[in-house]
Amino acid sequence: MYNKVDEKFIADLQAIAGKEHVYVDPDTLDQYKTDEETDPAKFHTPEAVVAPGSTEEVAAIVKLANEANIPITVRSAGTSLSDGAIAVCGGIILLMGRMNRILEVNTEGLYMVAEAGALVKECQAAAKEHNLVYAGDPSSAETCQIGGNLATNAGGIKAIRYGVTRDQVYGMKVVTPAGEIMNVGACLKKKTTGYALEQLIMGSEGTLGIITQVTLKLQPLAPYRFDVLAMFDSVEKAARLVPAVIKAGLNPTSIEFMDNSFVRSTTTFCETNVPHRDIANFVYVTVETFDENQLDTGLEKLSELCEEAGALEVLEADERLWTLRRSCQESLRILSDVTITDDFVVPVHKVAETIEHVKAMGDHYPFEVMVLGHAGDGNLHVCMCRKNLTEEEWNENVEKFHREAYPYVYSLGGRLSGEHGIGAKKLHYMEEYTEPAELEYMRMIKRAVDPKNILNPGKIFNV
Ligand SMILES: Cc1cc2nc3c(=O)[nH]c(=O)nc-3n(C[C@H](O)[C@H](O)[C@H](O)COP(=O)(O)OP(=O)(O)OC[C@H]3O[C@@H](n4cnc5c(N)ncnc54)[C@H](O)[C@@H]3O)c2cc1C
Repeated sequence: MYNKVDEKFIADLQAIAGKEHVYVDPDTLDQYKTDEETDPAKFHTPEAVVAPGSTEEVAAIVKLANEANIPITVRSAGTSLSDGAIAVCGGIILLMGRMNRILEVNTEGLYMVAEAGALVKECQAAAKEHNLVYAGDPSSAETCQIGGNLATNAGGIKAIRYGVTRDQVYGMKVVTPAGEIMNVGACLKKKTTGYALEQLIMGSEGTLGIITQVTLKLQPLAPYRFDVLAMFDSVEKAARLVPAVIKAGLNPTSIEFMDNSFVRSTTTFCETNVPHRDIANFVYVTVETFDENQLDTGLEKLSELCEEAGALEVLEADERLWTLRRSCQESLRILSDVTITDDFVVPVHKVAETIEHVKAMGDHYPFEVMVLGHAGDGNLHVCMCRKNLTEEEWNENVEKFHREAYPYVYSLGGRLSGEHGIGAKKLHYMEEYTEPAELEYMRMIKRAVDPKNILNPGKIFNV
């Protein structure tokens, strides 16, 4: 379907981005064969890697790829958990990392302009310098890039109060699949002026355009907050705290759940001692406020709720304890070389029963089913480790697990992914579980804007 990268194409790429920013040596190509995918069967080595330095260079590369019929997979930090940044159809990887400047922090208009390759942690820090907050906060914020967050509509630990990435964005500069440069969105509180293309492109996982610059919303930083970690001796008790906190009207910034399997793996990974380590399931709750008096009443209410739910112990969740939560995904590495992280989302009021159901399902599989998640917004990460299973046993049981879990999630009104995206990993489930008319509508959009299927083919659905 596609042509192979040849010497002429490489020379043309070099003419656009500079010789030093085009890589074809096997060692470099090997570095880009995977993202956070751990299963070697899913790796694909790209034919070339290019790191453009400007939107104009990105546009010229896209035009060139169209002419030469060579696919492009955009890659920001490569922290995708859905095989999104893997060049599954060959072609080139386009790296965004050189375009990493924060261009403006506007304290009057409360927005920030940054190049798409800027690190999320740097966007957060630049806002904080001005006593403002950029509210996007995935657990990977230390390493992932803002363009990657827009492309996947990343969620994270503050989504319950502030929303997900698509709620933090005014607009963006995009290179279309035809290689045109387009500015979409505007710094406006409201807008009904044609299609909201910025919303369409966000979450499209690099299939509808390459985001090169972003304009982010900023908000005043709430000066007061409390962070609590409640420990429970059962999944049921922990899970039941989640709806109780939401119903109490505390307007929490975060409600995060971590089962005991994760408590054990992340405390080992971080070499941190915590009480009840071998039995506890954790629920973290953060509340932010602009009024100091609300702190005491909020904390009092939360303590009551924890007690009613049967907490073993309630601690202040300081940075050391929050690091445990942020390190959960990485802690899987000490358990197994090959792991899988699922990303279901269910209605918030069904989250407790989903956690209980999925944990119980785990009893029938030859791997431990580990659950953590942004319980306050219904998004659960269900993780499994291959350990000593053969490839065949692993694949068979993972597939069987998904065949049991996904229908259950859909029966609750849930979906396959709350924030990681479909990527290549869940493509066939996407095709199976999405209503045919909805899937066809998506395909029509993709075919119309990218008739040669140049941008990130093999992701979300087959065209
Ligand atoms: C430890 C860990 C914790 C994580 N925690 C969270 C979390 O809390 N919440 C969450 O949502 N995710 C989380 N993730 C997943 C991941 O970090 C997010 O999906 C993130 O948004 C990806 O950003 P990235 O810069 O790494 O993008 P990449 O992985 O490089 O790319 C992701 C996808 O976006 C496309 N893309 C990247 N940049 C652009 C661009 N500029 N224009 C168009 N398309 C582009 C790529 O082609 C790919 O399909 C976590 C991952 C890890 C490893």
